[in-house]
Amino acid sequence: MKVLISNDDGIFAKGIRALAEVVREIADEVVIVAPAVEQSAAGHAITIRSPLRYTKTRLEGLEDITAYRVDGTPADCVMLGVANEGKPDLILSGINIGSNLGFDVTHSGTVAAAIEGMTMGIPSIAFSLRVDFSKELKLDFSHGKEHIKQIVEMVSRNGLPNRTLLNVNFPDAETKGIRLASQSEHSYEDSVIERIDPNGKPYYWLSGKPYGQDVPDTDYTVVTEGYTAVTPLHFDLTHQSYMSQLSKELGL
Ligand code: MN
Repeated sequence: MKVLISNDDGIFAKGIRALAEVVREIADEVVIVAPAVEQSAAGHAITIRSPLRYTKTRLEGLEDITAYRVDGTPADCVMLGVANEGKPDLILSGINIGSNLGFDVTHSGTVAAAIEGMTMGIPSIAFSLRVDFSKELKLDFSHGKEHIKQIVEMVSRNGLPNRTLLNVNFPDAETKGIRLASQSEHSYEDSVIERIDPNGKPYYWLSGKPYGQDVPDTDYTVVTEGYTAVTPLHFDLTHQSYMSQLSKELGL
C-alpha cells in the first residue's frame, strides 16, 4: 500500500507527523507532500497564476519517508504529489489542529486535499482533532491512533464508493469509540470582528465562536460527546429530492 499524506497546517505541523508515524506502521510506502506554510481555511483553491516549487524536505525522525513541501495550497500539493510520485493507493490529509465539522468542510484545506484525491478516483480520508482554542492547547494526537489504523486498513481493503471521501474528527480527550455521523450545520457566530487601526480606520478578523446545534448523530454532537466521528461525504451536491418541486416552481 502506497500512501500520499498532505494537510493544511503545513509540512512542519505536529499533526502531519503524528499521522505519518501511525501510517508508516501499516503502509509499504509513505510520501508526504504538504504546504510550506499554513494554509488553514484555504478551501479547495489551486494556484494558477504563479509557478509552484516542489522542494525535498528532511523531517527529523521521519527520514524513511520522502517529503516535499510546496509553496501552494493543499489541493496543489495533492496535484503535484500524484503527478510527481505516481498514483497512490490512498490519500490522507491531516491530522488537522481543530475539528472540521458541518459547514467547515467547505472552508477546510484539510478536507479539500481529500476532495482533490477523490476527484482523481483515489480513496481519500481527512483527519482532524477537536481542539478548544479558548483554552491552553494540549495537543494529544494519540487519541486517534488506533482508529486511524482501523479506518485506513478498512478503506485500503474495500475502497470507497464513487465521489465519496471520509471526514474523520477525533475528540479532544480519550475517544470513547467510533460512531458514524451526518454532516451538521456547525458554523461560527459573531464571525466578523471589527477593530480600529492606529489611523482610526476599521479592519476585520474573520473568527468567531464555534456554534453548533445539538442534533443527535451529527458530526458536531458525536465529537462533542467524546467519540470519533466518521462522516462519509458525497460530492454529488445535487439536491435530488428538491428537483421536482424546483421544476414546478420554475414552470418547467
Ligand atoms: Mn488547519
